[in-house]
Amino acid sequence: MCRVVRLICLPRGCERRRGLARIAEASKGKALELIYGFIGCGRMGAPMAQRLLTAGKKVVVFDTQSGALAPLLAAGAQAAATPAEVARKAHTIYLSLPTPAIVQAVVQGPEGILAGSEVRTVVDFSTIGPRTALEVGAALAERGIDYLDAPVSGGTAGARDGKLAIMVSAPNAAYEKAREDLQLFGKLFHVGEKHGQAQIMKLANNLLNVAAVALTSEAMVMGAKAGLDATQMLEIINAGTGRNSATEQKFPKAVLTGTFDYGFSTGLSYKDVGLCVDEAEAMGVPMVVGAAVRQLLAITNASYGPDSDFTSVCRVVEGWAKAQVRAKK
Ligand code: NAD
Repeated sequence: MCRVVRLICLPRGCERRRGLARIAEASKGKALELIYGFIGCGRMGAPMAQRLLTAGKKVVVFDTQSGALAPLLAAGAQAAATPAEVARKAHTIYLSLPTPAIVQAVVQGPEGILAGSEVRTVVDFSTIGPRTALEVGAALAERGIDYLDAPVSGGTAGARDGKLAIMVSAPNAAYEKAREDLQLFGKLFHVGEKHGQAQIMKLANNLLNVAAVALTSEAMVMGAKAGLDATQMLEIINAGTGRNSATEQKFPKAVLTGTFDYGFSTGLSYKDVGLCVDEAEAMGVPMVVGAAVRQLLAITNASYGPDSDFTSVCRVVEGWAKAQVRAKK
């Protein structure tokens, strides 16, 4: 619907009408400059917002930790005080937030996105499970705002380099409108029109990601305790059938070095596996191995805290076995 028709359909004096009127005024005689919003500028969100800035876009950002915003502000982003303020300025808002409850608060809470007048599209990169995606999508749809459920995979390096796998579930029309901008962040997979489908896809991927870390920890600690060289073990596994994302990337970078800093927190991976196993149970899909992986994450979370890196799973197994998986000096 064109802006003028939308304007006429809205009651006089309502905030959305005033917002559309401002856009109509601003666009008289000049092309309207589009403003993008980014809420949640942490490990994933910050490099993604940075890509928007590098591409020359105007970006307004919000995060509850002001320190998270400093590099983006230095690169030209504008700070907002609330999600509502972002939504009063930006036509498209990207979210990269930790939990389902936080996404709900940012969208539907007081001073949330729904209180803003300019926003037309919300693209949610957070992993929040299908139920929250459906609820948030419905609340935004009531206000005529498109919602794209768009969780990502590829870690912080993928976020920085624009090489994420972006799983999107949204109606075709909304997907087509958002597609070009989204390509800035990586490769798109439109998995369906129903919100929540992309979340199921993401939970399946993350279960495999974390399970690989858990099982690689057990196999590597066994080898280390038997006196095998950890670096050579990985070389052999990566040349053979045991190869997986933990043996290829996480263990060389964060376990052999003893740094445990791959870039994904224990708290968030515990959340992901919990959402996955709960959702599977609700659907009548037994997850025997998934439930064991969830318990191992629960122990890691309790032992090293939610802010530790999820490769700390290996530290738990190392502690039990009294053996360490490290590169020889
Ligand atoms: P993070 O904890 O590093 O970043 C989250 C950011 O959100 C933080 O800066 C935090 O201050 C901010 N925040 C928290 N509450 C807020 C609120 N109410 N309003 C505004 N900002 C708020 O997490 P992350 O690793 O960047 O992950 C973000 C999302 O992406 C999560 O859903 C995660 O599961 C998913 N994800 C992470 C990775 C990864 O490798 N780190 C990969 C794929 C997907």
